[in-house]
Amino acid sequence: MMNTRRNFLARLAGTAWLPLLCQRGLAQADSPPVKVKESDPVALALGYKEDTTKVDSKKYPFHTKDQKCATCALFQAQPGQALAPCTVFGSKTVPPNAWCSAYAKRPEAAK
Ligand code: SF4
Repeated sequence: MMNTRRNFLARLAGTAWLPLLCQRGLAQADSPPVKVKESDPVALALGYKEDTTKVDSKKYPFHTKDQKCATCALFQAQPGQALAPCTVFGSKTVPPNAWCSAYAKRPEAAK
């Protein structure tokens, strides 16, 4: 009897955190996407700029001003979407005129 009660309480304690985890997951799913900041560590490492015309041409001599997120294969935009996630930055979003050194020209943009 005591063992059953102890088992029940142990199982209850073991699952008590589930609703909290689900609430946290829902809160994250409902929260608006976060825009990448130029000061983010990954952004700094990749020379990310919100405006492709502001890229340091000495540091990135291969960069051209027609390179931007809008023509990058890693830009996950749906039609008409201003800010969209970039594969490099996980769920964070970037604007279509941004650029970083991970730029990979989209095949259809290469034509
Ligand atoms: Fe933009 Fe492409 Fe760099 Fe992502 S990887 S920030 S889409 S240029």
